[in-house]
Amino acid sequence: MGRPIISFGDSLYAYLVAHQPPEHDELRKLRERTAVMPNARLQITIEQGPLLAFLAKLIGARRVLEIGTFTGYSTLVFALALPADGLVVTCDVNDEWVSVGRAHWQRAKVAQKIDVRLGAARDTLTTLRRENGAPFDLVFIDANKEDYDFYYEGALRLARPGGLVILDNTLFHGSVALPDTTDPRTKVIRDLNAKIASDERGDRAMVAVGDGMTLVYVR
Ligand code: CA
Repeated sequence: MGRPIISFGDSLYAYLVAHQPPEHDELRKLRERTAVMPNARLQITIEQGPLLAFLAKLIGARRVLEIGTFTGYSTLVFALALPADGLVVTCDVNDEWVSVGRAHWQRAKVAQKIDVRLGAARDTLTTLRRENGAPFDLVFIDANKEDYDFYYEGALRLARPGGLVILDNTLFHGSVALPDTTDPRTKVIRDLNAKIASDERGDRAMVAVGDGMTLVYVR
């Protein structure tokens, strides 16, 4: 088996972060505000932002669906990356979390591109299918892990051919590779990773960024 060429210590990680493109002021402020919150780890890592923005631009995304807003850092990443008439539909159950992001979205002048859907994402996905709007160019899944398979299947239905479905936390702090770890969330992600690896509905790549991210280019 091949081996990774690098492993990350603090100094190399700091170098990686320091050599990303400049972070928008409101992204930085929102990140700093989120960092002192108890669930700060729910936010994407700083180097994931430029990659998500890059991918959205690469496919010319105008409509993004985000499952799991948290405090809206990734929401803001997408909104900044989209053209002026772009739309980010973002779902979360927790309005307190979402409210943290709102002021920053406004100050970044992209709040008009963001449509928040509060409530269980399972229900929101059903609603979106019923609304029968234009398909999404990109779906980013970063919410409760128990429902990841449901979200993935829903994302494939809501995304256009040639669109992207991106799943966060697919290495799940490494637990997916530990056979003795049997907690339900790890099991859901492990089973889904196995399914996606052979899922011919898309071209796939699992990348070791953040906590692991899987990219699916929908056929
Ligand atoms: Ca995450």
